[in-house]
Amino acid sequence: MKYETFYQRVAVWEGIREMPWNRPFKMSVYLYIVDGLLIDTGPSSLGRESIIFFDDNTIQQVALTHVHEDHSGMAAWLQEKAKVPVYLHAASIAEAAVEPEFVSYRLKIWGRRPAFKARSVPEQIVTDKYRFEVIDTPGHCRYHKAFLEPDQGWLFSGDLLVNIKPRSVFCEENMSEMIGSLEKICALGFEVVFCSHTGILKNGKEICQRKLNYLIDLREKVQELRNKGLEDREIDQRLFPEEDIVSTLTKGDFSSYFIVNTI
Ligand SMILES: [Zn+2]
Repeated sequence: MKYETFYQRVAVWEGIREMPWNRPFKMSVYLYIVDGLLIDTGPSSLGRESIIFFDDNTIQQVALTHVHEDHSGMAAWLQEKAKVPVYLHAASIAEAAVEPEFVSYRLKIWGRRPAFKARSVPEQIVTDKYRFEVIDTPGHCRYHKAFLEPDQGWLFSGDLLVNIKPRSVFCEENMSEMIGSLEKICALGFEVVFCSHTGILKNGKEICQRKLNYLIDLREKVQELRNKGLEDREIDQRLFPEEDIVSTLTKGDFSSYFIVNTI
């Protein structure tokens, strides 16, 4: 765990989870507090560390990019202890109100995600100093938001970017929607991206463009093979022939097939 400030304006916290697999694999979680606004809460499995960060900073409101447990696992705690509003995509509020039952690998990595009462995120989130535009960015999951501070050129991107050249994605991801969201985002004015898993990217715009180019290129390849009469399963094997370790470890929750099938 470490935390620092970005030009003294954004408090940044990083927590690291070791995957419960017999191989070196770690994943970072980044949390950001800007002028009293906490963006995503991190998972409950990192709660003992993140609580120190929450206690050291003023939090007046919480905005979630999406409901996945590595982003919302501490929402119930924050609601209870800090008595602050938690904003979420309106279509995910019912899901947030019930604690889900996770398969064991998710529970081991991210921990429980206790139920919480979210409020519908407004079109703009205003703090004393800043104004965030709330942007629909489906793709990683159906209901995903990004937060843009146009005057500062900051984009809080949740899980929109994370992996620039994905070769295996989660079963809820949709690459056609991802392309649409990246096209939308690339047209906006920003430079710095605050990613939930890879941290602060000062060349964020360029990274968005690179991911978009990768997916457009992939879509062309898939379409060519479909035109030749290949099924998506065959296309998957041809474009991603290597062993999909993450797919094996997650019992198929992640797969390259979900890229091909949704692009
Ligand atoms: Zn996610």
